[in-house]
This record gives sequence, structure tokens and C-alpha cells, in this order.
Amino acid sequence: MTITYAQAVKMLTLVSKAVPDQLDCDGCFEMLSEFAERELRGDEMSASLKLVEVHLTQCACCRYEYETLVEAIRAADELI
Ligand SMILES: [Zn+2]
Repeated sequence: MTITYAQAVKMLTLVSKAVPDQLDCDGCFEMLSEFAERELRGDEMSASLKLVEVHLTQCACCRYEYETLVEAIRAADELI
């Protein structure tokens, strides 16, 4: 069986989505606000948000973004 390059790329994309054991910074940023809000509310984290948590322990850049975001959310809450 031969597959085309496009099919191979599609398969690899599906595989990487099916097994999201790692998150890049872009993916982390996308979910960061939801993660921060749930963290502050003490809500349960979904599987993908747990990946954010893992990424934050490994990535100083995103952790800084996260801390800034948490401060901003806390500050906003105090205004209400
Ligand atoms: Zn990162």
C-alpha cells in the first residue's frame, strides 16, 4: 500500500492530536485563561488543561504569563 505525502501528513496530524502528551507554547497560551480561571475557582481540570499544568512546570515563559494572568484575574475580582 502506498500513501501520498498529503495522506501521511494527515495521519501524523491525527496521531499527534490523539496523543497530546505534550503542549507547545501556542497551545498553552490558548488554554491559559481557562486554566487560570479553573485554578482560581478550584474547578476540576480537563485532560487538556492538565497538559497546561505540566507545560507550566517546564516552561518559565508560560509560567510567567500564567502568573501575570492570575494577578490580573484577582485584581479584577477585587474590583467587583
Ligand atoms: Zn511555554
